[in-house]
Amino acid sequence: MPLTGNEYYGLIVTRIAVYWVLIAGLNLIVGYAGQLAIGYVALFTLGAYTTAVLAAGNAFAPIPALAALAVAGVAGAVFGVVVGLPALRLRTFYFAISTLGFATIVTQIALAWQEVTGGGIGVVGPVFPAPFDDTWGLLYFCLGFATLATWITANVARSRFGRALVAIRDADVAAEAIGIAKPRLLIMVFLLAGALAAMAGGLFAALQTYITPDAFTFELSLLFFIAVLIGGRGSILGPLLGTIILTLLPEVAAPLAAWSTFLYAALLLAIVLAVPGGIAALLDRRSRRPLPANRTITPRPEAVRALIAHDAAPGALSLRGITLSFGGVRAVDGLDLDVLPGQIHGLIGPNGSGKTTTLNVISGYYRPEAGSQSLGGVELTPGLSTDRAARGIARTFQTPRLIGEASVLENVMIGGTTQGQSGFLEAMLALPRHRRDERLLEQRARLALQAVGLDGLAEVRADRLQHSELRFMEIARALMLRPAFLLLDEPAAGLAHEEIRRLAALVRAVREAGTGVLLVEHHADLIFDICDQVTVLNLGRTLAAGTPAEIRVHKEVVSAYLGA
Ligand code: ADP
Ligand code: MG
Repeated sequence: MPLTGNEYYGLIVTRIAVYWVLIAGLNLIVGYAGQLAIGYVALFTLGAYTTAVLAAGNAFAPIPALAALAVAGVAGAVFGVVVGLPALRLRTFYFAISTLGFATIVTQIALAWQEVTGGGIGVVGPVFPAPFDDTWGLLYFCLGFATLATWITANVARSRFGRALVAIRDADVAAEAIGIAKPRLLIMVFLLAGALAAMAGGLFAALQTYITPDAFTFELSLLFFIAVLIGGRGSILGPLLGTIILTLLPEVAAPLAAWSTFLYAALLLAIVLAVPGGIAALLDRRSRRPLPANRTITPRPEAVRALIAHDAAPGALSLRGITLSFGGVRAVDGLDLDVLPGQIHGLIGPNGSGKTTTLNVISGYYRPEAGSQSLGGVELTPGLSTDRAARGIARTFQTPRLIGEASVLENVMIGGTTQGQSGFLEAMLALPRHRRDERLLEQRARLALQAVGLDGLAEVRADRLQHSELRFMEIARALMLRPAFLLLDEPAAGLAHEEIRRLAALVRAVREAGTGVLLVEHHADLIFDICDQVTVLNLGRTLAAGTPAEIRVHKEVVSAYLGA
């Protein structure tokens, strides 16, 4: 670039690098975690003013520009959390609007706090020390920053934290059941993205050499947001290309400068209509390679044993007098239930008899009105869904909850999110302990895929699987927790006869490995074939309980449920 000697090009590339530093972090929030932060210019403005004001000495004695940039980074991290906090309570548009509110507040403060920010007149930008003090030096400095931002955010995206963000976005209930604590995870990402955004602001102030509040417009905020959208969710390269395109667009269409917002909007519409997955979908080859046609799922019991076998039996999973109503409906009404380790306990009953609700109570998704639940004699806190994974309870869902854009392998690896010693910082910097965690996690996920018989499809996007394969994938994900108890909600629904036979073999292997299984099912054959104990529900109450042989001939069960 310096060889061309064209400073105009140099400035544009620098601006792309500066924007990308912010967008790289924003990408984790919008593209990965799915939080609609449209007002991120707030942190950009904050960083620009913090750096410029500290370096110019408007508030205190002037400090070196690089130190001012570092302070801006810290301030950005803190305010990143402040701007992000509403995301823990507000959803979609409500959160989006709250971020816009912050953007307005920051701009208004910059305008009104004249003795520090210079008000409408503005303040000079920081000048970094040589060799970063001229056009080319600043270009390299910003490119270095952009590279670092790319590396760090790519590390996070590829780590178990990045996969957990996507799980929060696409399957939040499943994420809770896996033990992913959304607030903690989001706060770490808000810290990182806030620091990057504010430092991008500091670089921007240096690039502009002089900043006024009107440089930080709503259009700029939209540019950041749209760059991620047209780039595509869950990708780094896509949003990077999006940033380049959106920054170049007004330049190549200079006569249309007044139309830039219009151009963004038109481009966004075109992309959303033509390629809903954004640029990332165009780059994704996984979604085009044909899948083998007649593929069969062949679970391997020995892999199940290698994956989950544990010797210490944890004691029974017990419910006593569990009651829960929805409005006037008593979905579960004084239910007692004991599931023993190493046993398959069938839970059957007509539609609406409270089976799924029972699973939701056990997995902490619902808080019962009355009754108690315990595992191995230790109480299970009612309504605390994120601690069930740590207690050794894993589950699948009546409708599979998956991350369609992630590979089958990644979907299963998400099941092991809580396993690993390294922290977020180690993941950010790809330190050795983090890399070892990832290797172990991948090994175990491949073993889980072998166990359920899906190892041939590990690299395929999950949304390309058949329904029956998704059911087995969910079981593999649940097995990643090495559960003491596995709750299965109608795993045989939608499966062909042969697949049900394989499912039975798989569930038996899980039992042989010492895990207790609570199996909600409609297929009477499967229940009577593999269960050790059966409980029959009707209108939320136990109609009968006993061995399959007893239930099969139980008068009321036969007349009310099994039929002739
Ligand atoms: P099953 O899984 O046995 O078919 P459920 O546990 O899903 O039955 O439902 C039991 C009863 O509770 C049904 O009458 C159902 O309509 C009601 N129910 C379940 N979930 C809810 C909910 N979130 N809100 C209101 N009613 C619900
Ligand atoms: Mg159900």
